[in-house]
Amino acid sequence: MPNENAAVSKRLPDSDGNPQQSHFVATEAFASIFEVLQGKGYTVIGPTIDQHAIVYDQVRSLQDLPQGWTDRQGAGEYRLERRDDNALFGYVVGPHSWKHFLFPPAMTVATADKTASGWTFQTPEDDPPKYAFLGVRACELAAMRVQDRVFMAGPYVDPAYHQRRSGALIIAVNCSQAAPTCFCTSMGTGPQCTSGFDLALTELTDGFVIAAATRDGEEILSELKSRPATVEELRQAAAVTQRAAEQVERRLDTTNIRDVLFANLDHPRWDDVAQRCLSCANCTMVCPTCFCSSVQEVSDLSGQHVERQRQWDSCFNFDFSYMNGGVIRDTTRSRYRQWLTHKLASWIDQFGSSGCVGCGRCIAWCPVGIDLTEEVAAIREPTS
Ligand code: SF4
Ligand code: SF4
Repeated sequence: MPNENAAVSKRLPDSDGNPQQSHFVATEAFASIFEVLQGKGYTVIGPTIDQHAIVYDQVRSLQDLPQGWTDRQGAGEYRLERRDDNALFGYVVGPHSWKHFLFPPAMTVATADKTASGWTFQTPEDDPPKYAFLGVRACELAAMRVQDRVFMAGPYVDPAYHQRRSGALIIAVNCSQAAPTCFCTSMGTGPQCTSGFDLALTELTDGFVIAAATRDGEEILSELKSRPATVEELRQAAAVTQRAAEQVERRLDTTNIRDVLFANLDHPRWDDVAQRCLSCANCTMVCPTCFCSSVQEVSDLSGQHVERQRQWDSCFNFDFSYMNGGVIRDTTRSRYRQWLTHKLASWIDQFGSSGCVGCGRCIAWCPVGIDLTEEVAAIREPTS
């Protein structure tokens, strides 16, 4: 009869399919991960509370994490609420995504200074911190893979993204709950973290089951006070993720979605959604895969110093499609249609995958509660 509580020799597959051992780290021992990471030169970015939302920012200790808080989400709705336990990662996702750090919302990419002998041009030195991202969800790992393809897989590699991404350590956390806005199961992206991380955590009531998938991850795990996870702890960890998967109720039917959307560019639903959409661009700002930016030259008052600034932009902004004296998409209908068909259809042609990972942010943070899963379902309906 096997001892159920004995330390197990069973190894879980890592992100490359290699076997690895899962360990248990008690919550008090987990607190030292901040010192370990800081000692290795990492700036730790993780969940924290700001302006009544869970956002990603620099975290220096366990006290900075949203212990005992959760989020309630719906279409056009996001509220923080107290939990009846002290979970550190007992929320889903907030308005921020990791793109804030890998693809900064604003940065100066070039400068020009007027001198006696003419203009001198410079590229400012980009010296980002070495990031450790703590609390990355499965859908966010998928979103990083999407942005990796956009910024690093083509002939033109974005140097700012590449530098930040290649030095980043990823500490994933399996979801313990899903919001009504989540549909990761439809997109095949969650809630279980399966690849793309250095360490993966599952939070139990008194600590974490942790698996390392890379040498960096193993090294960090070895510096935490841990022991091999027991059969019971592994069972509990599996149940945590299973519970989150069962809570995902929202569905997006992705069957032939590219062809369905392209075949319905004149569907009356585009007029219907245009009546509700404010063209505010919130959905693109919170989306972890949206990557559009624009550059502008900004001069100081003397006209001696000019900066070329790159800023996030959005296909919902009126002048985003301005060219040669005119705006190509001058109606909300055409802009919403562009966003949805790019995200779910032409993205597949461009990058070989959907541009949506099912995180639900665009549903929660749309001020009028527009839900892309509902819009797609309506477009699938035949027109009379
Ligand atoms: S869909 Fe919602 S969030 Fe997006 S632009 Fe329209 S109103 Fe704003
Ligand atoms: S389109 Fe919406 S649900 Fe899909 S990844 Fe972007 S924010 Fe998340």
